[in-house]
Amino acid sequence: MQFTDSHCHLDDNAFKEQLPALLEQCSKLAIKRIIVPAIAPDNFDKVLNLAKTFHNKPISIYPCLGIHPWFLQQLNHTHLELLTEKITQSKNEIIAIGEIGLDGAIIKRSDDPEAELAKQQHFFDFQLNLAKQQDLPVIVHHRQSHDKNMPFLKRYQLNKAGIIHGFSGSYQQAKGYLDLGFKLGVGSTISYSRAKKTINTLKRLPLTSLVLETDAPSMPLSSEVMGLEVMAKQEKHPAPANSPVNLIKIFELLTTIRPESAEEIASQCERNVEQVFFT
Ligand SMILES: [Zn+2]
Repeated sequence: MQFTDSHCHLDDNAFKEQLPALLEQCSKLAIKRIIVPAIAPDNFDKVLNLAKTFHNKPISIYPCLGIHPWFLQQLNHTHLELLTEKITQSKNEIIAIGEIGLDGAIIKRSDDPEAELAKQQHFFDFQLNLAKQQDLPVIVHHRQSHDKNMPFLKRYQLNKAGIIHGFSGSYQQAKGYLDLGFKLGVGSTISYSRAKKTINTLKRLPLTSLVLETDAPSMPLSSEVMGLEVMAKQEKHPAPANSPVNLIKIFELLTTIRPESAEEIASQCERNVEQVFFT
Protein backbone atom coordinates (compact mmCIF):
# COMPACT_ATOMS: atom_id res chain seq x y z
CA MET A 1 0.00 0.00 0.00
CA GLN A 2 1.05 3.56 -0.54
CA PHE A 3 -0.55 6.87 0.26
CA THR A 4 -0.84 10.50 -0.80
CA ASP A 5 -1.63 13.35 1.57
CA SER A 6 -3.69 15.37 -0.90
CA HIS A 7 -3.72 18.48 1.31
CA CYS A 8 -0.98 19.46 3.74
CA HIS A 9 0.46 22.91 4.57
CA LEU A 10 3.97 21.57 4.78
CA ASP A 11 5.42 25.07 4.33
CA ASP A 12 3.93 26.13 7.69
CA ASN A 13 6.52 27.28 10.24
CA ALA A 14 5.25 24.56 12.59
CA PHE A 15 7.20 22.02 10.51
CA LYS A 16 10.30 24.08 9.81
CA GLU A 17 12.75 22.50 12.27
CA GLN A 18 11.81 18.91 11.74
CA LEU A 19 11.07 18.77 8.01
CA PRO A 20 13.76 16.29 6.85
CA ALA A 21 12.98 13.92 9.76
CA LEU A 22 9.26 14.29 9.18
CA LEU A 23 9.56 13.43 5.48
CA GLU A 24 11.68 10.42 6.38
CA GLN A 25 8.99 9.30 8.78
CA CYS A 26 6.32 9.74 6.08
CA SER A 27 8.36 7.65 3.70
CA LYS A 28 8.62 4.82 6.26
CA LEU A 29 4.83 4.90 6.63
CA ALA A 30 4.44 4.62 2.82
CA ILE A 31 3.19 8.21 2.47
CA LYS A 32 4.89 8.77 -0.86
CA ARG A 33 3.37 12.03 -2.03
CA ILE A 34 2.32 15.26 -0.33
CA ILE A 35 0.34 17.95 -2.13
CA VAL A 36 0.93 21.43 -0.70
CA PRO A 37 -1.61 24.18 -1.42
CA ALA A 38 -0.70 27.85 -1.04
CA ILE A 39 -2.86 30.26 0.95
CA ALA A 40 -1.74 33.81 0.03
CA PRO A 41 0.84 35.68 -2.10
CA ASP A 42 3.05 35.70 1.00
CA ASN A 43 3.65 31.99 0.80
CA PHE A 44 3.74 31.40 -2.99
CA ASP A 45 7.54 31.33 -3.14
CA LYS A 46 7.78 29.37 0.07
CA VAL A 47 5.54 26.62 -1.30
CA LEU A 48 7.37 26.54 -4.65
CA ASN A 49 10.81 26.49 -2.99
CA LEU A 50 9.82 23.83 -0.50
CA ALA A 51 8.73 21.55 -3.30
CA LYS A 52 11.97 22.21 -5.22
CA THR A 53 14.19 21.67 -2.17
CA PHE A 54 12.57 18.55 -0.78
CA HIS A 55 11.09 16.85 -3.84
CA ASN A 56 12.13 13.17 -3.83
CA LYS A 57 14.01 13.63 -0.55
CA PRO A 58 12.75 11.01 0.04
CA ILE A 59 9.13 11.54 -1.05
CA SER A 60 7.41 13.57 -3.76
CA ILE A 61 6.13 17.04 -2.94
CA TYR A 62 3.81 18.87 -5.30
CA PRO A 63 2.97 22.58 -5.00
CA CYS A 64 -0.27 24.40 -5.81
CA LEU A 65 -0.88 28.14 -5.97
CA GLY A 66 -3.98 30.01 -4.90
CA ILE A 67 -5.50 32.55 -2.52
CA HIS A 68 -7.53 31.25 0.44
CA PRO A 69 -10.66 33.20 1.50
CA TRP A 70 -9.30 33.72 5.03
CA PHE A 71 -6.48 35.99 3.88
CA LEU A 72 -8.14 38.61 1.71
CA GLN A 73 -8.12 41.56 4.15
CA GLN A 74 -4.90 43.13 2.87
CA LEU A 75 -5.33 41.97 -0.72
CA ASN A 76 -6.76 43.52 -3.85
CA HIS A 77 -7.05 42.76 -7.54
CA THR A 78 -3.33 43.29 -8.18
CA HIS A 79 -2.67 40.16 -6.09
CA LEU A 80 -4.78 38.17 -8.51
CA GLU A 81 -2.63 39.50 -11.33
CA LEU A 82 0.43 38.44 -9.39
CA LEU A 83 -1.08 34.98 -8.96
CA THR A 84 -1.71 34.76 -12.70
CA GLU A 85 1.90 35.69 -13.39
CA LYS A 86 3.23 33.14 -10.87
CA ILE A 87 1.06 30.39 -12.27
CA THR A 88 2.20 31.12 -15.81
CA GLN A 89 5.84 31.07 -14.69
CA SER A 90 5.54 27.85 -12.70
CA LYS A 91 3.14 26.01 -14.97
CA ASN A 92 5.44 22.98 -15.10
CA GLU A 93 5.70 22.69 -11.33
CA ILE A 94 2.24 23.29 -9.94
CA ILE A 95 -0.47 20.66 -10.17
CA ALA A 96 -3.55 22.67 -9.13
CA ILE A 97 -4.97 26.04 -8.14
CA GLY A 98 -5.69 26.11 -4.41
CA GLU A 99 -6.76 26.54 -1.94
CA ILE A 100 -9.65 28.72 -3.01
CA GLY A 101 -13.33 29.02 -2.14
CA LEU A 102 -15.91 30.85 -0.08
CA ASP A 103 -16.11 30.85 3.72
CA GLY A 104 -19.57 31.47 5.16
CA ALA A 105 -18.35 31.85 8.75
CA ILE A 106 -16.02 34.72 7.80
CA ILE A 107 -18.83 36.42 5.88
CA LYS A 108 -21.20 36.08 8.86
CA ARG A 109 -18.62 37.49 11.27
CA SER A 110 -17.68 40.44 9.05
CA ASP A 111 -18.64 44.06 9.87
CA ASP A 112 -19.84 44.35 6.30
CA PRO A 113 -21.06 40.90 5.21
CA GLU A 114 -22.14 42.07 1.78
CA ALA A 115 -18.75 43.56 0.95
CA GLU A 116 -16.98 40.49 2.36
CA LEU A 117 -19.13 38.16 0.25
CA ALA A 118 -18.51 40.27 -2.86
CA LYS A 119 -14.74 40.23 -2.29
CA GLN A 120 -14.60 36.49 -1.66
CA GLN A 121 -16.70 35.90 -4.77
CA HIS A 122 -14.43 38.09 -6.87
CA PHE A 123 -11.35 36.12 -5.79
CA PHE A 124 -13.06 32.74 -6.20
CA ASP A 125 -14.49 33.58 -9.60
CA PHE A 126 -11.18 34.93 -10.88
CA GLN A 127 -9.28 31.83 -9.74
CA LEU A 128 -11.83 29.42 -11.21
CA ASN A 129 -11.55 31.27 -14.49
CA LEU A 130 -7.77 30.95 -14.27
CA ALA A 131 -8.10 27.21 -13.67
CA LYS A 132 -10.32 26.96 -16.73
CA GLN A 133 -7.83 28.85 -18.90
CA GLN A 134 -4.84 26.86 -17.62
CA ASP A 135 -6.71 23.54 -17.61
CA LEU A 136 -5.79 22.90 -13.97
CA PRO A 137 -7.87 21.27 -11.22
CA VAL A 138 -8.81 23.29 -8.12
CA ILE A 139 -8.66 22.60 -4.39
CA VAL A 140 -11.79 24.06 -2.84
CA HIS A 141 -12.21 25.28 0.73
CA HIS A 142 -15.69 25.22 2.23
CA ARG A 143 -17.15 26.24 5.57
CA GLN A 144 -20.85 26.97 5.83
CA SER A 145 -20.65 27.60 2.11
CA HIS A 146 -21.81 24.56 0.07
CA ASP A 147 -24.70 26.59 -1.34
CA LYS A 148 -22.46 29.56 -2.05
CA ASN A 149 -19.67 27.58 -3.76
CA MET A 150 -21.89 25.46 -5.93
CA PRO A 151 -23.14 28.06 -8.48
CA PHE A 152 -19.53 29.05 -9.21
CA LEU A 153 -18.40 25.46 -9.71
CA LYS A 154 -21.40 24.83 -11.95
CA ARG A 155 -20.66 27.90 -14.03
CA TYR A 156 -17.09 26.83 -14.83
CA GLN A 157 -17.54 23.04 -15.27
CA LEU A 158 -13.80 22.51 -15.02
CA ASN A 159 -12.44 19.72 -17.13
CA LYS A 160 -10.38 18.18 -14.32
CA ALA A 161 -12.67 19.49 -11.54
CA GLY A 162 -10.62 18.95 -8.36
CA ILE A 163 -10.99 18.28 -4.66
CA ILE A 164 -13.55 19.52 -2.15
CA HIS A 165 -11.08 19.76 0.68
CA GLY A 166 -11.96 18.56 4.19
CA PHE A 167 -15.42 17.55 3.09
CA SER A 168 -18.16 17.57 5.67
CA GLY A 169 -21.81 17.53 4.77
CA SER A 170 -24.80 15.55 3.61
CA TYR A 171 -25.12 12.92 0.90
CA GLN A 172 -27.04 15.40 -1.27
CA GLN A 173 -24.29 18.01 -0.93
CA ALA A 174 -21.65 15.42 -1.74
CA LYS A 175 -23.59 14.23 -4.78
CA GLY A 176 -23.77 17.79 -6.09
CA TYR A 177 -19.97 17.94 -6.17
CA LEU A 178 -19.58 14.42 -7.58
CA ASP A 179 -21.92 15.28 -10.44
CA LEU A 180 -19.47 18.04 -11.40
CA GLY A 181 -16.56 15.56 -11.36
CA PHE A 182 -15.11 16.58 -7.98
CA LYS A 183 -13.61 14.21 -5.44
CA LEU A 184 -13.94 14.70 -1.71
CA GLY A 185 -11.05 15.10 0.72
CA VAL A 186 -11.43 12.78 3.70
CA GLY A 187 -9.68 14.25 6.73
CA SER A 188 -9.76 14.41 10.50
CA THR A 189 -13.51 15.16 10.56
CA ILE A 190 -14.15 11.40 10.60
CA SER A 191 -12.23 11.10 13.89
CA TYR A 192 -15.00 12.96 15.71
CA SER A 193 -17.96 10.81 16.75
CA ARG A 194 -20.20 13.89 16.54
CA ALA A 195 -19.58 14.05 12.77
CA LYS A 196 -22.28 11.43 12.17
CA LYS A 197 -23.74 13.05 9.08
CA THR A 198 -20.38 13.24 7.31
CA ILE A 199 -19.43 9.70 8.34
CA ASN A 200 -22.74 8.37 6.99
CA THR A 201 -22.22 10.29 3.76
CA LEU A 202 -18.71 8.88 3.25
CA LYS A 203 -20.05 5.39 3.90
CA ARG A 204 -22.55 5.63 1.05
CA LEU A 205 -20.49 7.32 -1.66
CA PRO A 206 -18.59 5.45 -4.38
CA LEU A 207 -15.00 4.78 -3.38
CA THR A 208 -13.94 6.40 -6.66
CA SER A 209 -14.89 9.77 -5.14
CA LEU A 210 -12.59 9.82 -2.09
CA VAL A 211 -9.03 11.00 -1.45
CA LEU A 212 -7.13 11.18 1.85
CA GLU A 213 -5.78 14.37 3.44
CA THR A 214 -4.58 15.79 6.77
CA ASP A 215 -4.66 19.61 6.27
CA ALA A 216 -1.76 19.58 8.77
CA PRO A 217 -0.85 21.49 10.86
CA SER A 218 -4.58 22.44 10.96
CA MET A 219 -7.52 20.15 11.67
CA PRO A 220 -6.19 18.02 14.55
CA LEU A 221 -7.66 14.57 15.02
CA SER A 222 -9.99 14.02 17.96
CA SER A 223 -8.57 13.09 21.34
CA GLU A 224 -10.75 9.95 21.16
CA VAL A 225 -8.54 8.74 18.33
CA MET A 226 -5.22 10.22 19.35
CA GLY A 227 -5.56 9.05 22.95
CA LEU A 228 -5.74 11.42 25.88
CA GLU A 229 -2.24 10.52 27.03
CA VAL A 230 -0.70 11.60 23.74
CA MET A 231 -2.65 14.85 23.89
CA ALA A 232 -1.44 15.56 27.44
CA LYS A 233 2.15 14.86 26.42
CA GLN A 234 1.75 17.27 23.51
CA GLU A 235 0.56 19.99 25.86
CA LYS A 236 3.79 19.69 27.83
CA HIS A 237 5.95 19.55 24.70
CA PRO A 238 4.02 21.53 22.12
CA ALA A 239 4.19 19.86 18.74
CA PRO A 240 2.18 20.80 15.64
CA ALA A 241 -1.49 20.05 16.28
CA ASN A 242 -1.58 17.82 13.21
CA SER A 243 1.03 16.16 11.04
CA PRO A 244 1.08 14.37 7.67
CA VAL A 245 1.94 11.11 9.48
CA ASN A 246 -1.63 11.16 10.82
CA LEU A 247 -2.75 10.34 7.29
CA ILE A 248 -2.40 6.68 8.27
CA LYS A 249 -4.80 7.16 11.20
CA ILE A 250 -7.32 8.81 8.88
CA PHE A 251 -6.94 5.92 6.45
CA GLU A 252 -7.47 3.38 9.25
CA LEU A 253 -10.61 5.21 10.34
CA LEU A 254 -11.88 5.18 6.76
CA THR A 255 -11.38 1.40 6.60
CA THR A 256 -13.67 1.05 9.64
CA ILE A 257 -16.54 2.89 7.92
CA ARG A 258 -16.16 1.43 4.40
CA PRO A 259 -17.13 -2.10 3.34
CA GLU A 260 -14.08 -2.63 1.06
CA SER A 261 -10.76 -4.16 2.15
CA ALA A 262 -7.95 -1.88 3.35
CA GLU A 263 -5.90 -2.70 0.22
CA GLU A 264 -8.77 -1.80 -2.05
CA ILE A 265 -9.41 1.50 -0.24
CA ALA A 266 -5.73 2.47 -0.32
CA SER A 267 -5.25 1.67 -3.99
CA GLN A 268 -8.49 3.32 -5.11
CA CYS A 269 -7.70 6.52 -3.17
CA GLU A 270 -4.34 6.58 -4.98
CA ARG A 271 -6.02 6.09 -8.36
CA ASN A 272 -8.38 8.95 -7.51
CA VAL A 273 -5.42 11.24 -6.79
CA GLU A 274 -3.86 10.16 -10.11
CA GLN A 275 -7.03 10.97 -11.97
CA VAL A 276 -7.34 14.52 -10.61
CA PHE A 277 -3.71 15.65 -10.55
CA PHE A 278 -1.55 13.41 -12.69
CA THR A 279 -3.37 12.60 -15.93
ZN1 LIG B 1 -5.86 23.84 4.02
